Amino acid sequence: MEFLELYPKIKEYALEHGTPIIMEDSLVYIKKIIEERKIKKILEIGTAIAYSALHFASVSEDVLVDTIERNPEMIMQATKNLEEYDLKKQIKIHPFDALECSLDDFDSEYDLLFIDAAKAQSQRFFERYLPLLKPNALIITDNMNFHNVSVDDENISKNLRNMLKKIQRYHDWLANHPDFTTEFIDLGDGLAITWRK
Ligand code: SAH
Ligand code: MG
Repeated sequence: MEFLELYPKIKEYALEHGTPIIMEDSLVYIKKIIEERKIKKILEIGTAIAYSALHFASVSEDVLVDTIERNPEMIMQATKNLEEYDLKKQIKIHPFDALECSLDDFDSEYDLLFIDAAKAQSQRFFERYLPLLKPNALIITDNMNFHNVSVDDENISKNLRNMLKKIQRYHDWLANHPDFTTEFIDLGDGLAITWRK
């Protein structure tokens, strides 16, 4: 699929500042899912500077994105970006730690949960936000291959190894879950697409 970069300035900012943003292949894939399944309500964990949220909202005016971010600098930059592209009607930033905030502020009928925050915590986000999803919702997790660093690489730090182990554990938990089916896709930094059996 042809990719149109709607937000080149944001991408440039991300490259300059080392801000993590979703990779192009994954973005194309997810936008296609949003379009084909006519997804309306998205909950995103990890806004960063709203690059992915803006792209998701660009699929259709009917798409609404609630997105959670805990880092004040990211929140500031994301807010600026929403103002610049006039998408404040479609995207709402929730300035909280997604593991601690109250769930009362949120809708309860999301069609898509996009997990893209602290990689070691993906399973906790999955479990915490599951009750807010529609029964036929999709859960998409980014960075399942984490830059293709191997857990057996001897040159990596202890912290990184721990994180990779947690991603591996999450991978196995998803793969063996009795209630969910997961497809692992080698696009971008690795996506997991999960749905209820
Ligand atoms: N989805 C964005 C990239 C997100 S980067 C895009 O593709 O454009 C991951 C972000 O998750 C970081 O900005 C980080 O601050 C945030 N994050 C990590 N743990 C979090 C938590 N527990 N609650 C809220 N935000 C968190
Ligand atoms: Mg990501």
